[in-house]
This record gives sequence, C-alpha cells and structure tokens, in this order.
Amino acid sequence: MRLVLTGSGASRGKALGRARLEQPSRFLVDETRLDEADIAAELARLEHALADARAELRTLRDKLSGPLAREVAEFIDAHSLILADPEFVNGLRDLVSQGRMHASAALKLQRDSLVAVFEAMDDPYLRSRREDIEHVIGRVQGALSRESSIEERKLASRVGEILVSDTVAPSELVPLAEHGVLGFVLTAGSTLSHSAILSRSLRLPMVVGAHEALSHVQDGDLVLVDGDRGEIIVHPTAQDLAGYRLWQREAAQHDQRLECLRTVETRTIDGVAINLHANAEMTADVAQARANGAAGIGLYRTEFLFLQRREVPTEEEQFLAYRDVVLGMGGLPVTIRTLDLGADKIDNAGLALREEPNPALGVRGVRLSLRVPGLLRTQLRAILRTTGYGPVRILVPMVSCVEEIEAVRRELRACAKDLRTQGHEIADHFELGAMIEVPAAAIALPSMIRMLDFVSIGTNDLIQYTLAVDRGNDALGDLYDPLHPAVLRLLAQIIATGGRAGKPVAMCGEMAGDTVFTPLLLALGLTEFSMHPRALLEVRERINALDRSVLRRLAPKLLRATSRKRIADLLGQMRVELPAVTTSA
Ligand code: PEP
Ligand code: MG
Repeated sequence: MRLVLTGSGASRGKALGRARLEQPSRFLVDETRLDEADIAAELARLEHALADARAELRTLRDKLSGPLAREVAEFIDAHSLILADPEFVNGLRDLVSQGRMHASAALKLQRDSLVAVFEAMDDPYLRSRREDIEHVIGRVQGALSRESSIEERKLASRVGEILVSDTVAPSELVPLAEHGVLGFVLTAGSTLSHSAILSRSLRLPMVVGAHEALSHVQDGDLVLVDGDRGEIIVHPTAQDLAGYRLWQREAAQHDQRLECLRTVETRTIDGVAINLHANAEMTADVAQARANGAAGIGLYRTEFLFLQRREVPTEEEQFLAYRDVVLGMGGLPVTIRTLDLGADKIDNAGLALREEPNPALGVRGVRLSLRVPGLLRTQLRAILRTTGYGPVRILVPMVSCVEEIEAVRRELRACAKDLRTQGHEIADHFELGAMIEVPAAAIALPSMIRMLDFVSIGTNDLIQYTLAVDRGNDALGDLYDPLHPAVLRLLAQIIATGGRAGKPVAMCGEMAGDTVFTPLLLALGLTEFSMHPRALLEVRERINALDRSVLRRLAPKLLRATSRKRIADLLGQMRVELPAVTTSA
C-alpha cells in the first residue's frame, strides 16, 4: 500500500530504488557466502571485534564519574553481560562457521532475531531492552568495520538501492555511492550535517529526520525519495512513477537552461561584479566548479582526505591531493582550509582522539591542529608546496582568538623557511585567512583583522554557535534560523569590518549557495560567495536578475528589525520566498 513519510530535504533531487535497511546504521553488511577457506579468518575477525567491544566498555566504565555514574555503570554492565553471554557469542560463531556468514551478516541476523524476541514481550520495560541489543551489536559492528578495509566494505553491490538508516557517517557515503546507492533516507540527522553536505556534492537525494522510516519501510520495498519536498513515497503508484518521469524530463530541461549560464559573467543588473567561488572536497567538485565557471575554489575541505583512511596522510600524499586541485583550477585561486575535524566528522581519521562529552565545543578545527604534534606542520608544508603551481590561499577553521592566528602564522613562517632551505619552489607571498564561524571571532574581528589577509564566513557553524542550536540535531531544526536578527547583525558586522580594513570577505557556509538568501546577502554587502559547485548556476541566474543598489538601501531596515516576521516582510519587498519556519517569529 502506498505510504508517504516525511522528513526534511537535505539534498535535492529525486531517486527511485529498492530500500535497503541498515539497523543499527553505519555498517555495511556483507551478505555473500563465505568460502570454506575464509572461515577461520572471519572467526578471528569476529573474536577481535568482540574483544575490542568488551575493552571499549571497560574503558568507558573506568572513565565514569559524577552523579549519574552508578546508573550509567549499570547500563554498561548490562551490555558487558550480553557480550559475555555464551549463547550470544556461540550463536555468532556458529553462524560464521556453520552458516558460512560474514561476521557482519551474522551480527545482523543475531540482532534481528533477538530484537524480535524482545519486541514480542508484553512487559514494556523488557520490550525497551531491545535497545541494549542494538547498542551492543552496533558496538561490535563498529569494531568490526574499523577492522575491515574500505575495500572490503565496498564489496557488496548496492546498485539501485536507497539506504534507509538512522544515520550515515560521512566516510561511508562515498563507498556507498560508488557502489550504486541512489539516495538516502535517514531517521535522524540534519540538513547541515557533513553527511548532508557530502550527499549534495555527490548529487544524491537525501531526506533526514524521517523518524518513521525504519519502522515503516521493509528491505526491498520500492521507494521514491524526494529530496526537494523532504518526502519518501513507499510503494509508489503508477501516477507517482509518471510524476517521477515528468520530473526527470523537467530536471534535464532545467539543467540545459542553466547550462547556458556557464560562461556568463556574474553581475547584478546595476553592473556590480560578484565573485562566485566553489566549495570542494572531491576532485569531481573541482571539475564541476570549472565547468560551471567558478571564479576559484573558495573552500577546499581537506577533511575528506583524512576520513577515507585509517592513518594520517603523509605530507607527500597531501601535497599531491592539494596540487591536483590547484592544477585542476588552471590558474584560478584555490583556498585550502586546514583540517577541520570535529563533532560530526570524527570517525576513522587515524587520529587517536579522546572522546569528548561535547565535541562541537571541544578540540576541533585549529584547536586540534595546534595540539596534535606535527599535524599542522605537515599540512602547512603540503599546502605551501602547492603555491608554486597556482594561486593558493590558506584558510583556518574554528578560530576563536587572535593567539590561534598568531600560532598558525608562526608555523607558516617556519615551514616556508624550511621548505625554501630544502629547495622547494614556493610562492614569495601567500595569504592567510580565518573562517569566521565562532561568535567570538565575529565580535572581536575588528581587533583580529590586522592579522589576516582575508576572512570567510562559515554560516553553518556561526549560526549554530550564535543560536546555541546544534546544526546536527533535527529536533531543533526550526530554531536553526539563518534569519535570526542576531545572525543578520553579525553578518553585517563581519562584512563591514572587512570592508573598512580593505580585506576581502567571502561566505562559504550553505547560506551562500541558497538562492533564497541571495538578495539578503547582496543587501548586506557581500560580494564573494562560495558554494557547492552545483549551486553556482542557479545563484548566478538569481544575482544577474537583481539590482544591488535597491537591495543595499533595504539593509539598514533589515538590521533594525527585531523579529523574524519583520525581516520576512522586508525580504518580501525583495521578492524573496522564505522557507517555512514555525518558531522564533
Ligand atoms: C561552515 O561552518 O559554514 C563551514 C563552511 O564549514 P563546515 O560546514 O565544514 O563546518
Ligand atoms: Mg564550519
């Protein structure tokens, strides 16, 4: 029976495919049959993963302190008991040795049968214990997947599948896409998570916050994911399919229309030239940036290089990857951001990071780079070596104080000196900029700007930190409001501070690539935008139809507005349709 589930669209477009459920999420299950010869090795992997999971629980227990320590310890003990249960462990071993299953598939089967037992219980408390099973098995799956190489994890073909899961890690997205996954339906997550950003890069539709998906979709169901509307149609009807085909035709026509704008200048109707740069994390983004006439790469996120693997990439590897981007842009400027691992991105980066209770406010971005010995130096050396191949700027994420910029500058000078002594060809001058994404940096920018050659506004984080709204928490989605008066005032201040100091100000957060906000950003005086390369043509089309001087005159009123409603009215005068926001009026 046709069923429509809703969530939030995190990556646009539509896809039609077979549902593939991952529960608990994050783990690729290899369902192929094991060869006799591989059984012993697979059993060893299983034992290893079980031992790792037990050790993790022990470490967790040892670290407990505070008022809830006893209760938490009870949970951990319950999980440890499951892991020590001979029936559970022997069952898994049998599935591998006799059932010829890969450890991941054996775990999934164990999970499914145990969950079914718990779900059949009348006692609501006991029924709720199924979660413990999920967590324990998830922990073992986690240990297992850390053991398997990306290569192994890619094995199972995912052609024509729509992944339905609670979350998906950024590092899993690419192997999944390469193996044929067409779209993502996530019960949790947010449109600003790194996975969502990656999914947009990969042009794969994604719907997040589809809370009911895992309980209403079965493996193999035909599903139509609509990333534009944030909808999932399970068992689409003939009419839905006809609608999908129509959409495919229209999307192709729209693409064609936009393609005419590839070589067109970006200029408002009153003649102001606007710089449209592209954000990139993969080489495909660089190709698309070129194809769509980007003026440069405004944000090259280097995390990607670190997430795809278990060890920290060497200077040489980093250099080659960055140089490809510089060469790929054929002389156009490339802004390379130093590592911004943190919060939603720490995964399998080969960096032994300590677990933190609140990683978004923890050791991420420049804080991490300055703390892990050699990390920043290796990266800066790699970046500096690319300056001999084209114009390169260096951008530092998560800056909150001037001392961090000073420390990076010192390191940069030392690296440049060493490289020159070692005979490397590097540019005489290179620009250093900071992401303005922490409110402290935005507010203190007047005293920081002299240390910087340029700044780039990271609205994704700036909004989350200004409003104290986790960008990855879908329950707070409607409070994450780019039009909050506090956000608008900060944006205006940053742009004005840069203007007064004669330093370029760009914006590279998602807001820059959303045509809904284009008139507003022009009104605030922004002239350099960096966005996903896919958004370039639409933003260009929008800018080329706007009169900047008219918009600029509205800016003072916008900044005086005290409510979202008033801001919405003013934007209405700019003929801007706003996304529906239900709170914070
Ligand atoms: C931002 O915070 O706006 C940004 C561009 O950085 P990221 O999304 O990688 O945190
Ligand atoms: Mg950021």
